[in-house]
Amino acid sequence: MDIAIDHDRCIGAGQCTLIAPEVFDQRDDGLVLLLVERPDDAGLDAAREAVECCPMSALSVGEDRRPPA
Ligand code: SF4
Repeated sequence: MDIAIDHDRCIGAGQCTLIAPEVFDQRDDGLVLLLVERPDDAGLDAAREAVECCPMSALSVGEDRRPPA
């Protein structure tokens, strides 16, 4: 799974960092910073919850386009 961020939409509200601190942090300018592109299962669950809670729909979790190993 890939996690994608649209920085043009992010307003630095910070919900994602509270919900999934192992996956998201905030940059010095307050916008979201992706810490882990491919988190473990627990991180992925948290990232999905953060996607749902982001007020600007700036986050998405999509299918990994690479073939399975
Ligand atoms: S919750 Fe959304 S708007 Fe807030 S910092 Fe995270 S990505 Fe940006």
